[in-house]
Amino acid sequence: MNPTKKVMKKVSQTIHEYKLCNKNEKVLLALSGGKDSSVMAYVLKKLGYNIEGIYINLYIGKYSEDCLKAVEDLCSMLKIKLHVYDLKKEVGTSMCYIRQSVQSKQKLSNCAICGVFKKWILNKKARELGAGKIATGHHRNDEIETFMLNILKGSPKLNQNFGLILKVKDKKFVPRIKPLFFISEDDIREMSKKLKLPVVYSVCPCRGESYRVEVKEFLKEFSDREKEKMMDNLIEISKKIKKEQGKVIYCEKCGEPSRGKLCKRCEMMNLVKDGQENDGSY
Ligand code: SF4
Ligand SMILES: [Zn+2]
Repeated sequence: MNPTKKVMKKVSQTIHEYKLCNKNEKVLLALSGGKDSSVMAYVLKKLGYNIEGIYINLYIGKYSEDCLKAVEDLCSMLKIKLHVYDLKKEVGTSMCYIRQSVQSKQKLSNCAICGVFKKWILNKKARELGAGKIATGHHRNDEIETFMLNILKGSPKLNQNFGLILKVKDKKFVPRIKPLFFISEDDIREMSKKLKLPVVYSVCPCRGESYRVEVKEFLKEFSDREKEKMMDNLIEISKKIKKEQGKVIYCEKCGEPSRGKLCKRCEMMNLVKDGQENDGSY
């Protein structure tokens, strides 16, 4: 079957089977300019969902400029309303500066730090824009890799959130969905190339997750069928992990949902030297 038909069919089935979203609610797509979120946008648009896009400019040099251009081209091609936000305006400083400050005090990867800020902005903006769900472009390979990495790094409990939808019982938290959860990276790449979607294929220069790259290489040894089976097994395993949601409170500083007095974003901002926060932004 041609990759586009195959992906469209599988995503449509997945959305219905797992009740990820419906056509009466607004779904905000987290667009990065890469192939995964671009294919997700194409599929959800063709399936008739009420979607809008969001792009967060992280100021990672030319890479971010290229990604923004790709996202703008994609949204104009698919007629998707796009919201662009600027990390500097939202938190008052750049990702490079935040990373340097945080990493001088804590052993965290670039992506772990970046992820905290992206999720914080996504949730806040999705709520302001009246979105019922946030959709991300995570695919089957990403999910298996993350599951394995959590185990290999000694944090199996983190896999309690493994799944297609992340919900937290709180009115300020916008649920996050993964429509490409069962789709292979190869199918996504092939589809994006066949459709000539405006996509940046180079990898983010800040990624630096070498452990993930090794796990990615290891998984290449397995067939498509074996990876399908793996996903079923991981879903079963994750059901057996004790869920520890804990109480959600609101961050004392920014008012966003949090597990502690301060949310992770504000904890990290406290580590940023000579804090240059934009007090009026929240
Ligand atoms: S690869 Fe890592 S550092 Fe680059 S944008 Fe994604 S999360 Fe951020
Ligand atoms: Zn906060």
